[in-house]
Amino acid sequence: MQRVGLIGDPVAHSRSPEMQNAAFEELGIDARYELWPTPADGLPARIALLRSPDVLGANVTIPHKLTVMSLLDEIAPSAETVGAVNTIVKRAGRLIGHNTDADGLAAALREIGWDAPEQAMVLGAGGAARAALVALHQLGTRAIRVLARDSASAERLAAAMSRHMTGVSLLWGDLYTEDLTLWQRMLARTEIVINATPLGMAPDDPLPLSDAALDRIPAGTLVMDLVTHDTPLLAAARARQLPALNGLPMLLHQGAL
Ligand code: NAP
Repeated sequence: MQRVGLIGDPVAHSRSPEMQNAAFEELGIDARYELWPTPADGLPARIALLRSPDVLGANVTIPHKLTVMSLLDEIAPSAETVGAVNTIVKRAGRLIGHNTDADGLAAALREIGWDAPEQAMVLGAGGAARAALVALHQLGTRAIRVLARDSASAERLAAAMSRHMTGVSLLWGDLYTEDLTLWQRMLARTEIVINATPLGMAPDDPLPLSDAALDRIPAGTLVMDLVTHDTPLLAAARARQLPALNGLPMLLHQGAL
C-alpha cells in the first residue's frame, strides 16, 4: 500500500484523511492518507521521509507552506505564483511543490455562481490570503483590498503580488481600524469579503470585528471564511441576511486537484 499524508502542526482537526481516503476507495487506488504532525524542527526529516518508495506525496499546511519550499527539488508555477506549497508530488524521485489552494478557491466560487466579483476584500496577509488574491484574479476581479492587523504586512503582500496580477488594482489597509467612515469607504462596492486569517477556527477566538463594522458590509456581499466550518463571522453575516460560505468547498476542490 502507498502512503500520502498531511504535514503540519497541528493537523488533528483536518478533514483531509476522511475526504482523500473516501476518494482512494471509490477510485480503487491502493493508498492511505495519514496525518503527519510535524513541528518546525522536524520538517527536514519529514521531507526526507517522502523519498521512501512507499510514499506518493503529501499535503502541507500551517505553519510549513512557505518554509517547505527550500526543501524541495522543484517548484511548479502554481506554487511560484502563490509563493507557498500545499501539495508535494513525487515524480521520478523528485519532490515537486504545487499549490492547489487558488484553483480550489476559484472552483468553489464558480460552483456557486460567484465567477466575476468586480471588487473584493481579503482579510489576512498569509499564505491563504495570497491564494485568495490569485483566485480572485483568475475570476476577473478588478480591485482587491487586503486588510491585515499590521497594514504594513498587507501593503507588502499587495506589492509582492502586483507583478502576478496585471490589470488588478491592489489596495491595502488596517483590519482593525476604528474609523467606521474609512471602513465603510473600503467596503464600498465590495461584492465578496474573504476571511483568510485562522480566526474563527476555534469558537472562542473569533475575528473581532465589531457589530457596527459588520453592519456596514453592503447588502448582497458574499462573506466567505476559508476556515472549513461555520464560524462566528458567518453566523454574523447570516444574521444580517448576507450570503455566507465556509471553506469546505475550497478544501474539497483543492484536494481533488
Ligand atoms: P498563515 O500563513 O499563518 O496566515 C495567517 C494570517 O492571519 C496572517 O496574515 C496573520 O497575521 C493573520 N492573523 C493571525 N492571527 C490574527 C489575529 N489575531 N488578528 C488578525 N490577523 C491575524 O495561515 P494561512 O495558511 O494563510 O491560513 C489561514 C486560514 O486559512 C487557516 O484557517 C487555514 O486553515 C485556512 N485555509 C483553508 C483552506 C481551505 O481549503 N479551505 C486552504 C488554506 C488555508 P500576521 O501576519 O500579522 O501574523
